[in-house]
Amino acid sequence: MAKEMTCIVCPIGCQLTLEPEGESFAVFGNKCPRGKKYAIEEMIAPKRVITSTVAVDQGMYPVISVKTQAPVPKELIFDVMQDLSSVLMKAPIQVGDVVIKNVQGTGVDVVATRNA
Ligand code: SF4
Repeated sequence: MAKEMTCIVCPIGCQLTLEPEGESFAVFGNKCPRGKKYAIEEMIAPKRVITSTVAVDQGMYPVISVKTQAPVPKELIFDVMQDLSSVLMKAPIQVGDVVIKNVQGTGVDVVATRNA
């Protein structure tokens, strides 16, 4: 049975149609190869970039914004958020500083997205 989804990789937002094809899926409606990769990954192992905040000690702000440097498996969102809730960063902090290295064993770092 065909499945419809919107590609969220770029602002064009192509409407994608997926049809089962062997062990994977045939993808239609994508204007570029990234759409096919996104659609198949979304069906087999969905991932998301996680954005959040962590507490800062002695900084200009009480918290700073952070994000994963790359998408991580969607099912780990809660665990990553729990890890972030126990972090206390010491100022000064620069954009790009690593907040948690290899979060949840994903190979992806969480980094600061502002100075503090
Ligand atoms: S398929 Fe390519 S062009 Fe279309 S939304 Fe996805 S990334 Fe953008």
